[in-house]
Amino acid sequence: MDRYDALLRTLKLTRRDARAERTIVRLRSGVTVGGETLAICAGPCAVESAEQLDATAAAVAAAGANVLRGGAFKPRTSPYAFQGLGECGLEMLRASADRHGLAVVTEVLDPRDVAVVARYADMLQIGARNMQNFSLLREAGTAGVPVLLKRGLAATVEEWLLAAEYLLHAGNEHVVLCERGVRSFDPATRNVLDLAVVPLLAELTHLPVLVDPSHGTGVARLVGPMALAAVAAGADGLLVEVHPEPAQAASDGPQSLRPQEFSALMGHLAGIAAAVGRRLPAASLAA
Ligand code: PEP
Ligand code: MN
Repeated sequence: MDRYDALLRTLKLTRRDARAERTIVRLRSGVTVGGETLAICAGPCAVESAEQLDATAAAVAAAGANVLRGGAFKPRTSPYAFQGLGECGLEMLRASADRHGLAVVTEVLDPRDVAVVARYADMLQIGARNMQNFSLLREAGTAGVPVLLKRGLAATVEEWLLAAEYLLHAGNEHVVLCERGVRSFDPATRNVLDLAVVPLLAELTHLPVLVDPSHGTGVARLVGPMALAAVAAGADGLLVEVHPEPAQAASDGPQSLRPQEFSALMGHLAGIAAAVGRRLPAASLAA
């Protein structure tokens, strides 16, 4: 651990030895992140319509996911790209999640929207581009709802944990980290999914960790293998993009799984989960 001593000295509230037990984040609807049961968050990159969202929610729930993802406020590289449906999208997320027995995770981009997003969501997502938006972190720290904090595009583990530290320092202990790949020199994949951080974070922090193999690879065919690897490495769950018609998606179609591909992945995941002492959400309901 010598290599990490300097890093650990910068941490107060997120470091592993700040708590006797690992943090288990409980979402409003009874879903837990960090316990024996994996949190499987699935859904479209963006909420595009009530029909698209509901078809996806029905499919991912049937396949055994327990959290619906989908952006109503989208952080797009171009100002001319689809920016999301805003509060209408939040209403759709809540309605579909309730209809299919799922919790909701959705991104908040702006500190001024934290309250409205927190009214609809069970967990606020702070995206990679906003990992060091300190005003947003401070506001989300007082929201009273759990926060999913994605790793920045080029953030070190120390910077990421210090960003999480902002949330805890502001009073929110319900924080989940999400590895989603970092920028590298190689355009062969969209990002480089850093799975070594999963066991590393288990040493450094008591906070749970999800892995997002969709943004981590940018290629739908690579999502399944990296999802399995993430769970094998000890991830507390996954964030996966699923779209009924990826070719028609308003954003991130190339990395989105079709519902039947997601369902097949869940089938393969059961064996990996069992091998590392975890279980899928549907398996826990059945148990
Ligand atoms: C997303 O989850 O759709 C998203 C925009 O993620 P990230 O912030 O990791 O790019
Ligand atoms: Mn996306």
